[in-house]
Amino acid sequence: MLQLARTRAPTLVRRVPRQACAWPPLRGYASAADPYDVVVIGGGPGGYVAAIKAAQLGLKTACIEKRGALGGTCLNVGCIPSKALLNNSHMYHQAKHDMERRGIDIQGVSLNLDNMMKAKDASVTGLTKGVEFLFKQNGVDYIKGAGSFVSPTQLKVALNDGGETEVSTKNVIIATGSEVAPFPGGSITIDEEQIVSSTGALALKEVPEKMVVIGGGVIGLELGSVWSRLGAEVTVVEFLGGIGGAGIDEEVAKQFQRLLAKQGIKFKLNTKVTGAEKKDGKVYLSTEGAKDGKPDTLEANAVLVSVGRRPYTEGLNLEAIGLETDNKGRIVIDSQFNTSVPNVKCIGDVTFGPMLAHKAEEEGIAAVEYIKAGHGHVDYAAIPAVVYTHPEVAWVGKTEQDLKAEGVKYAVGKFNYSANSRAKTNLDTDGFVKILTEKETDRIVGVHVIGPNAGEQIAEGVLAMEYGASSEDVARTCHAHPTLSEAFKEACMAAHSKAIHQ
Ligand code: FAD
Ligand code: NAD
Repeated sequence: MLQLARTRAPTLVRRVPRQACAWPPLRGYASAADPYDVVVIGGGPGGYVAAIKAAQLGLKTACIEKRGALGGTCLNVGCIPSKALLNNSHMYHQAKHDMERRGIDIQGVSLNLDNMMKAKDASVTGLTKGVEFLFKQNGVDYIKGAGSFVSPTQLKVALNDGGETEVSTKNVIIATGSEVAPFPGGSITIDEEQIVSSTGALALKEVPEKMVVIGGGVIGLELGSVWSRLGAEVTVVEFLGGIGGAGIDEEVAKQFQRLLAKQGIKFKLNTKVTGAEKKDGKVYLSTEGAKDGKPDTLEANAVLVSVGRRPYTEGLNLEAIGLETDNKGRIVIDSQFNTSVPNVKCIGDVTFGPMLAHKAEEEGIAAVEYIKAGHGHVDYAAIPAVVYTHPEVAWVGKTEQDLKAEGVKYAVGKFNYSANSRAKTNLDTDGFVKILTEKETDRIVGVHVIGPNAGEQIAEGVLAMEYGASSEDVARTCHAHPTLSEAFKEACMAAHSKAIHQ
């Protein structure tokens, strides 16, 4: 069990004029004599969840956030706005291309991009305000400003409304997240108008005629799908030989690419973008073959640069406490979220692991539990990943290529949605569920779903893995009929013995 080092005596706190912070009353601010138990720097899914949990556990808690809204990348420029556009662009596409065969005649369907963007913005505002409400409800002090270290127990905050304050605390949790990785070598500059990152791609003012997406990872495929559905001719250029980013099962990735290609997205795999030139209102991208170096040029009206994200530590003044980052800019932590500095923990995108909101949330809770109780837990073997395209793609645990590389003897159970009654009824049959089990024990070690609502379906796989279920356990569990979840049960039946409906 972790022994937390005793807190050093905090230095004096300067009192801040109350109007400098719009909210909350800050209960007289934590003074040297009465410091916070926990101050979280960053109000994203990692930070805000940590702050709420800390307050719920009776710890005197503040969260410093400089964005002017809570929810971090996820709620403001990530998960939520992208899912709003994914959902509504899918409905538009359905209305235009899929309703007739369902017996619904709609005339004169047209896109009102301004209103689609307004609907997205309303979702964002509703949720960020919701987090602010949760802070109030749980008694978390929300300090609006940029935090930096003076010492491990003393933080300076440059307040958004002007002025500066200092807060004393026994523990700090760094949850400052990540930012868009610039194009390597600086040969492409993001202007967020024509050459955009994910942030600009969530707010384009018109549908581009031709869009080139650099990077066939999660962001490229989700936002490429949005603009393709809205009418852009989208080409995804990917350096690797397959799409979907790290951790995707190769069989799923191939099927995924086939299905997206059927929807009209073009792919140039094994191709590296090397530079961009703007001319006559267009962008000309130079590319070269990743294997043969063969040069080519692609023309686009808009370019999405989605080549990854990087940890964000700017302005934290980590030097003041002697905290170093690794060669990828990540803050180094141990298995209990401790940095090298006593009483300073770190969670979320700014440290190791997949850059996912739910992973950051789990870490936020566990880090606080370590502070309060000396123990906490995140099961990194059971963190799901979801790509919210149509169909969705979701997975948890090992891929087939992982198991091969590890020399594990495994069994595969697969069930196609084309044989699932609900998917057939819904006229939405693309994809499959694939269960991977350890041959000797039948324990489920990987679940891969490509198909309708895969992102919801994967929760069953995560739960099964958390409880160490065998495929027989799931196969013998009653699933409601007619549901998509029966495909999951049947895939488990296939892994364990034989599916009924296929
Ligand atoms: P962040 O959400 O980045 O929050 C960090 C916060 O800290 C920021 O608000 C920042 O302003 C603040 N901050 C930084 N420095 C300071 C400072 N010195 N003082 C005060 N405040 C500071 N993940 C998913 O799981 N599902 C998805 O569907 C998904 N979709 C995404 C779509 C897009 C387009 C993008 C870009 C990302 C998506 N992600 C998704 C990833 C997800 O957004 C991140 O993994 C998640 O937000 C990380 O949470 P975090 O709390 O670690 O950091
Ligand atoms: P990514 O790392 O998933 O994909 C980037 C891709 O770009 C890689 O496949 C890489 O090979 C390719 N690439 C890099 N340089 C290239 C070049 N010069 N030419 C061609 N291809 C090149 O990164 P991302 O898609 O930007 O996403 C960033 C992070 O955001 C991810 O960690 C992801 O987990 C998170 N995210 C998650 C979700 C979700 O959970 N649904 C959605 C969006 C973002």
